[in-house]
Amino acid sequence: MLLGELARQGVDAPQPLDGDEEGFVRRQARLSQVSNLVSQMALELLGVCGVDGMLLLEAASPPSNQDFELVVDVGKLALGAVALVEAGCRPWGSPGLNGAMDEFMQAAIDEARKGRGEGGIPIGAVLVHDGEIIGRGHNRRVQMGSAIRHGETDALENAGRLPAGVYRDSVMYTTLSPCSMCTGAILLYGIGEVVVGENRTFMGEEALLAERGVSVTVLDDETCVTMMRDFIAAEPDLWNEDIGED
Ligand SMILES: [Zn+2]
Repeated sequence: MLLGELARQGVDAPQPLDGDEEGFVRRQARLSQVSNLVSQMALELLGVCGVDGMLLLEAASPPSNQDFELVVDVGKLALGAVALVEAGCRPWGSPGLNGAMDEFMQAAIDEARKGRGEGGIPIGAVLVHDGEIIGRGHNRRVQMGSAIRHGETDALENAGRLPAGVYRDSVMYTTLSPCSMCTGAILLYGIGEVVVGENRTFMGEEALLAERGVSVTVLDDETCVTMMRDFIAAEPDLWNEDIGED
């Protein structure tokens, strides 16, 4: 379906009547589609058009409630993004357009890149609860002179103090297989699910996580692999320091 058409459907969809469960489900599915598209467009816009795509991306985060007005708002955002494209931004053609791209892993990758841009180690993470990012982080060993700010621990720290129930229902997205320290933090807070960008350049404690009942998914994402390979080749000493090796 054309992006503009989908966005218009999001805007034009009628309010379901009370008790109209089928309408509700349909509408939620449409909202999810539209918000995914806006997220993808936002990321494209970020790099291509100089537009502040992160704002769009945050605005498009799938809502955690049942507020139908959000469908309309997200649809309007999508239409705005479509208008930007039509005004001369790069035509859509990324593989992510069909939903293949995971917006949360993309957010973790954005964090990793931000860290590298600061002269740090390119590992990023986001903590997601109820379809929303509640904490973002990246490795800040170099930037902060920190011994414990890895991508995952930085995301946890930035999420702040949370009730146990929120951790239990959260998903940690991280660009790299979690080391033993981050695995410990994930286990301590009882985070139920971890999505890993790649484990080819470093295999963390995935087995321990699985053994303790945490659901672990490895995406084997080429972007994550390349990011780490390039970094390790450029700064082997810094990498060894990060994983506690000589
Ligand atoms: Zn770690």
